[in-house]
Amino acid sequence: MDIDNVMRLVRENIRNLAPYSTARDEYKGGIGVFLDANENPYNNGYNRYPDPRQTTLKELLSQIKGIAPQSMFIGNGSDEAIDLCFRIFCEPRVDNVVTIAPTYGMYRVSAAINDVEVREVQLGEDFSLPTAALLSACDQNTKLMFICSPNNPTGNSFSIEQMRWILEYFDGILVVDEAYIDFSSEASATTLLAEYDNLIVLQTLSKAYGLAALRLGLAFAHPQIMQLFANVKYPYNINLAGMERAAQLLTRDVETQIKNIKSERSRMAQALESMQCVKSVYPSDANFLLVKVDDAKNVYNKLINAEVIVRDRSGVKGCEECLRITIGTPEENDRLLQIMA
Ligand code: PMP
Repeated sequence: MDIDNVMRLVRENIRNLAPYSTARDEYKGGIGVFLDANENPYNNGYNRYPDPRQTTLKELLSQIKGIAPQSMFIGNGSDEAIDLCFRIFCEPRVDNVVTIAPTYGMYRVSAAINDVEVREVQLGEDFSLPTAALLSACDQNTKLMFICSPNNPTGNSFSIEQMRWILEYFDGILVVDEAYIDFSSEASATTLLAEYDNLIVLQTLSKAYGLAALRLGLAFAHPQIMQLFANVKYPYNINLAGMERAAQLLTRDVETQIKNIKSERSRMAQALESMQCVKSVYPSDANFLLVKVDDAKNVYNKLINAEVIVRDRSGVKGCEECLRITIGTPEENDRLLQIMA
């Protein structure tokens, strides 16, 4: 789908929106006397409004990700980007979105907040992507399809070829949530952005980059889609302290941490598989393992009593008797293994 057809999917009120113009948007000169934004004039480092376009942080991320700043959006977590997808493309009570199940819970919550129907298609027994069933679930009001890869909570990735197939046949926008891509052996769907204008790829600094507390999520898409995100977001969605800290911390070596987390993932999978209470450890491309145990509630409570918190997913269809265990430091992982043994 080309960008002109993508623009036809945008809600009319958003297409016609006159976005809020921030105090600094109109002035392109150097540092002058700023009497335009009703700020406190006494400098403390944070008395001025931050750059609404996050120019400096985008340039830094552009180097790291190899994607142009104009094809990028920075949100207050990728949860903001998920919500913006609904607000930009989905007419409440008219449009719908299609996604997989089980998957990340926020698509459903954002849909409910925006009063948009969600059509969930259950993954295969082995958590495989039901590509044909996903397309069959669509109708003329299906604006978005959310695919999380690697998927939370199942941990597996879907292939670029499967994404390409959906992009070829789907008449809406494919949103690929790659929160866990840095732990994956599969290539990023960002490699498809040059070919498909109906693709939005979400990533985050909350996982591999270790900046969950700063709340910085990313979206990558055609510049015209990113302009819509910029028009609809709150003008100053990213604060200056967060941007400054991110710029400092992004220069650290995360590759070694990712390598360690991946090697701990293999060690944990092996150790867990050998336990009597463990029925299966699903293959994972993320920084967590989905583990089927004999009695999930019992194992969960045993861990809780020892102050080790995991995520009980046993109530989720397709994840019966499953716990989702995040890969921690070697010491933290050992503690969990000790308690479960
Ligand atoms: N997508 C997925 C698949 C996630 O698991 C999470 C966090 N649990 C997010 C998005 C949200 O991440 P953030 O808002 O911290 O960027």
